[in-house]
Amino acid sequence: MSSIINKDQQHVWHPFTHLKSAETPVHIVKGEGAYFYDAEGNKLLDVISSWWVNLHGHCHPYISQKISEQLHTLEHAIFSSFTHEPAVTLAERLIGHLPENQSKIFYSDNGSTAVEVGLKMVLQYWHNKGIQKKKFIAFENAYHGDTFGGMSVGARNVFNNAFENLLFDVIHIPLPDEGNIEQLKDTLQTWFTNHNDIAGFIFEPLVQGAAGMLMYEAKYLDDLIAICQNNKIICIADEVMTGFGRTGNFFASDYLTQQPDIICLSKGLTGGFMPLGVTSCAKFIYDACVCDDKTKTFFHGHSYTANPTACSAALASLDLMEKEETWQQIKLISELHNEFVKKHIGHKSLSDIRSKGTIIALEIKTEEHTHYLNRASESMASYFLKHGIIVRPLGNVLYLIPPYCITESELKSVYTTIEDFLNQL
Ligand SMILES: *Cc1c(COP(=O)(O)O)cnc(C)c1O
Repeated sequence: MSSIINKDQQHVWHPFTHLKSAETPVHIVKGEGAYFYDAEGNKLLDVISSWWVNLHGHCHPYISQKISEQLHTLEHAIFSSFTHEPAVTLAERLIGHLPENQSKIFYSDNGSTAVEVGLKMVLQYWHNKGIQKKKFIAFENAYHGDTFGGMSVGARNVFNNAFENLLFDVIHIPLPDEGNIEQLKDTLQTWFTNHNDIAGFIFEPLVQGAAGMLMYEAKYLDDLIAICQNNKIICIADEVMTGFGRTGNFFASDYLTQQPDIICLSKGLTGGFMPLGVTSCAKFIYDACVCDDKTKTFFHGHSYTANPTACSAALASLDLMEKEETWQQIKLISELHNEFVKKHIGHKSLSDIRSKGTIIALEIKTEEHTHYLNRASESMASYFLKHGIIVRPLGNVLYLIPPYCITESELKSVYTTIEDFLNQL
C-alpha cells in the first residue's frame, strides 16, 4: 500500500462510503482531458465527469489559466456591502442564458446550498407577504442534496434514514407520465382548492439524477408547473445536475414552455473546477424583499459567497459553453447515445435503457430490486475499472455522463466494453 493510501485510511472519512466494506480508494495523481491518471500509471477514462461536474475535460488549460490570473488579482472578498467584477459579469451572463423571467442571481457554495437558498426564498416570500404557507410538493425518488432542507424535499430512503423524524413534511407526488397525468392534475387541483398552505413545488427537470437517471417528458412537467403557478405555488427547478448542456439544451428548462420561478445551479457551473452554487429567481421574489421593514431581510449568506476565483472558473467555462464546437460535441454524444439505446432496447440483460442528451442509463436485470444498495454496483464498477473506465453505478443502474471533450472513438470503446459486460452476465 502506498503511503498516501495508508495515510488516507488513517485520517480521511470519504463521503457516501460504507466504511467497513469499501475497497481502498484509487489514488488519482493527474487529470487531463477525459482522463484521470492513477498513482500506478494507469490511464482511466472518466465517463462520469467526476461526480457529474466536469464539462470540458480535466485541467482544461483555458479554465486553469483564467483561475490562475484571478488568483493573482483577487482571491476572495466579503460579498455583503462589497462586490467585484467576476461575480457581476457572471450574474449578467447567466441571466442572459437562463429563461427570460429570471432576474437576480444569489450565490452560494454547492448544489445543496443552491437548493436550500431556493427553498428559503420561497418561505421568505410568503413570510414577507404575511401569508402562512410552508408546505412543499416534490417528486417521489427526488434528490436535492444533503442539507436538512434538501433532504426534506428529497425522497425518504437509505440516504436520510438516520435523520427522518427531523425532516419537514413534504407532499411527494409520482413522476408524471401519459398514464397518470390527468389524475395527477386533478389531485393537485383538489389539494390547492382545499388547502392553502402549499408554498412551492420543487423538481429535477426531465432527469432525476441520483434516483437512477429516471427520465420524464417536458410536456407533463409543463402541465404540473402551469397548474401550480395558476394557484400561486412557486416553482423551483433544481438544475444542479441538468444544467449546462447535459440534457442537450443549455438548461433542461429550455425544453419547457412554462418558466420556473427559481432555478438552482451548481455541478457544471464552473466546468467542474471550483465549488460554487447559484440560485436565480424571478423579479417578484426579489421584490418581496425590497421593503422598509428590516425584519423582512433575506438573512442568508456564506463566508465564501461569490468567491471570485470560483466565479472566474464559471466565466471561463461559459466562454467554452458558448463555442460552436462544444455544441457539436453535445450533439454528437447525444446522437451516439441515442443509437446505442435503439440498438439495445429489449436486451436480455436489461430491464430498461434510456437517454436524454449526453446522459445514458442502463438498468441491469438483477435478482434484487432496482435500488441504490443493489450489490450489482460494486462488481460493475470494478469490471469497468479493470478496463480503464471509471463508472459509478447507482445500484444496478449503469450510466454515462461524459465530459464534452470525449471523442467518438473513446465513447464507442466504452459502448463496446458495456456490450462485453452485458454479454458475460
Ligand atoms: C448533486 C445534486 C445536488 C446536491 O449538490 P451538491 O453540490 O452535491 O451539494 C442537488 N440537486 C441535484 C439535482 C443534484 O444532482
